[in-house]
Amino acid sequence: MGEMAANEMKALAKTAPAPGLEMIRAVVPEIGPDDVLIRVKKTGICGTDIHIWDWDDWASRTVPVPLITGHEFVGEIVDMGKNVEDLSLGQRVSGEGHLIGKHSRQSRAGRFHLDPETRGIGVNEQGAFAEYLRLPAFNAVPLPDSIDDEIGAILDPLGNAVHTALSFDLVGEDVLVTGAGPIGIMAAAVARHVGARHIVITDVNPNRLALAARAADVIPVNVASENLAGVIDRLGMKEGFDIGLEMSGNQAALDQMVETLVMGGRIALLGIPPGKSPVDWSRIVFKAITIKGVYGREIFETWYKMIAMLENGLDVRAVITHRMPVDDFVKGFEIMKSGASGKIVLDWT
Ligand code: ZN
Repeated sequence: MGEMAANEMKALAKTAPAPGLEMIRAVVPEIGPDDVLIRVKKTGICGTDIHIWDWDDWASRTVPVPLITGHEFVGEIVDMGKNVEDLSLGQRVSGEGHLIGKHSRQSRAGRFHLDPETRGIGVNEQGAFAEYLRLPAFNAVPLPDSIDDEIGAILDPLGNAVHTALSFDLVGEDVLVTGAGPIGIMAAAVARHVGARHIVITDVNPNRLALAARAADVIPVNVASENLAGVIDRLGMKEGFDIGLEMSGNQAALDQMVETLVMGGRIALLGIPPGKSPVDWSRIVFKAITIKGVYGREIFETWYKMIAMLENGLDVRAVITHRMPVDDFVKGFEIMKSGASGKIVLDWT
């Protein structure tokens, strides 16, 4: 990259409406009176970043070019606007990447995560794959010393997992998690932490199931070769799962979930299907199933619960399978796309 001027930084950006990301030299963002400037230390690669890299239909409709991407980060506050209180220079923070409006009914009611004017860093606004990130101070989340930078970098997806898992009371319940990606695995770990009984996680990718078995106290089931009905019998569950956490967006997974849920069972949906998909609604009606769509994290209740659980023994570190300097980002994205990894953390220091 050559010598950087004092107001320049490295950043990973979408620079053309085509696949890939490019390491660029960008201007360090200027902050407003209510913002903080964060020196980014580590970032996580998200599935969303893969969509942006691939420049699929969703990305090309959603992401402006040029744009610095990335939204999973940890760093340190190095500058603050004049209105910012209760934060300090040098403070370690992660933060909520959803920038909310203040006008909608939901936002004014304090249900910030349901604000329809929300804009995402690294998706609609300049993102965190950079040496410096501007963020509204409101969005910054200070971290206790017990949460290190590596875990700090994956709090955004852990928040998705926590929000999904805590959609329903899991104490003593039998839980089916469909989709053993990093968020599914972390949701299973949360279910275990808060006191679920049997936790079964399904996928068709043996690498991911092996990672799930290492990372969380769960029963991995490859539904390409094993039938869930047999698993229910083996575990002596009689009537089926009480709660379903759908993390895959896969039609067959949702069908299996509906089929193996108890009467009156409850489903939280985080996985995003690729398009419209046929659903057997009469089955859902006759089984009296409750379905909840989950988006993002509750701002800031999920952050509070997540940090409290991490301080209280929730361990999700094993879901991080690769760490590398950001200069190796091409390798990181390739590993991520291979499906043979958990979370990949890029180091910006
Ligand atoms: Zn993410």
